[in-house]
Amino acid sequence: MKFKRSEELYKEGLVHLVGAVNSPVRAFTSVGGNPLFIKKGHGSKITDVDGNEYIDLVLSYGPMILGHRHRKVRRGVAKALRSGYSFGASTENEIILAKIVCDAFPGMDKVRFVNSGTEAVISGVRLARSFTGKDKIIKFAGCYHGHQDSLLVAAGSGLATLSLPGSKGVPEGAVKNTLIATYNDLESVKVHFEEHDDIAGVIIEPICGNMGVVIPQNKFLVELKEYLKSKGALLIADEVMTGFRSKFGGAQELLGVEADITCLGKVIGGGFPVGAYGARNEIMEEVAPLGGMYQAGTLSGNPIAMAGGISTLTELKRQNPYDQFNDTAATIETILLETAKKYNVDLVVNRFGSMMNPFFTKGKVTNFEEAQTSDIKKFAIFFWAMIKNGVFLPPSQFEAWFLSSAISKRDIKKIAVAVDKAMLAVSKM
Ligand code: PMP
Repeated sequence: MKFKRSEELYKEGLVHLVGAVNSPVRAFTSVGGNPLFIKKGHGSKITDVDGNEYIDLVLSYGPMILGHRHRKVRRGVAKALRSGYSFGASTENEIILAKIVCDAFPGMDKVRFVNSGTEAVISGVRLARSFTGKDKIIKFAGCYHGHQDSLLVAAGSGLATLSLPGSKGVPEGAVKNTLIATYNDLESVKVHFEEHDDIAGVIIEPICGNMGVVIPQNKFLVELKEYLKSKGALLIADEVMTGFRSKFGGAQELLGVEADITCLGKVIGGGFPVGAYGARNEIMEEVAPLGGMYQAGTLSGNPIAMAGGISTLTELKRQNPYDQFNDTAATIETILLETAKKYNVDLVVNRFGSMMNPFFTKGKVTNFEEAQTSDIKKFAIFFWAMIKNGVFLPPSQFEAWFLSSAISKRDIKKIAVAVDKAMLAVSKM
């Protein structure tokens, strides 16, 4: 397999782009080598600029849940393009997408569209503060909530990949109201409430994908919600990754928990830049123009992006692929575990619905500390062997693999062959 054109573009890209990427998770820093440049995608596969084809388990870090260039999404977006791209005034598509979203999340009477998951969370946190009149927010170590200053502490995702404890350029004052708790550990939340009386709420990835996949144990989320209610604090569900992916109604539908504020992104735009935050009426009435919490956006509710979201969610609802996702993930899990056993490699696989990933470690992975016991050198060997055998994975131990409904039985056979070669390579380290 040759990567000649990718290498040329990487060198060219370094001149005017930082590290030749527009998001650090796309750099291959922790696996070594240079990032691949992608030319096109179709269904379950993508092709790089050298003509190498891969089964895509990155899927733009989640949004491409129907696979690439789905016919119905293309048609919906093409129709919207014919009418104009942006008006700075309201369009009907915003109302259509808002209804789809609010119908899917019972805790959302109203929604506000923004342009990214980061914006959704910035606004969701501001809303929690505005509604409660309190300043402090608890987050869990290893959860990533976008790159807003106040939550760039103990964040997973790219920071975990680059072994950064936080970001430079974030003033101390910006994080002074952020408290850190341990995922799956309610006691670590209670400790903060015993020490502080100005906690607005807790933000959580209800199924975590940003320290690798980490699953809420037992009744963690239900108990967390009950506890917060007793304290008059809000539960902010960051469902940027899980919204419409874990279930149509997100992790909340799957786990039977209703958050006070929900943040969405990724799948909601089907590959176009859309984020959203929403809540019940009494909370959303805080937001301008109804209330005093200001939040705005020139391109928010962009008609083309709304069309991408409407077409994606309409088709997703029709397909209802969630059982199929579970089956496919279970099959891939079995392939990973059996192959690891065959080659005597220590491996833990965490999966929930269409999100999964293996950790090269022993024991269990239920929080960030346990996730960090994973051997990232083994992951790097595994990653490159998978690439060379036609499977595109996130270039990090701490990012989830995603499934699309376009994945076929043939693709899974190809993944099994690649896993065999990759695990053999790891065993020879
Ligand atoms: N929250 C979560 C849970 C995420 O996974 C991400 C992105 N991976 C974000 C927020 C930020 O979204 P975006 O990259 O669209 O700004």
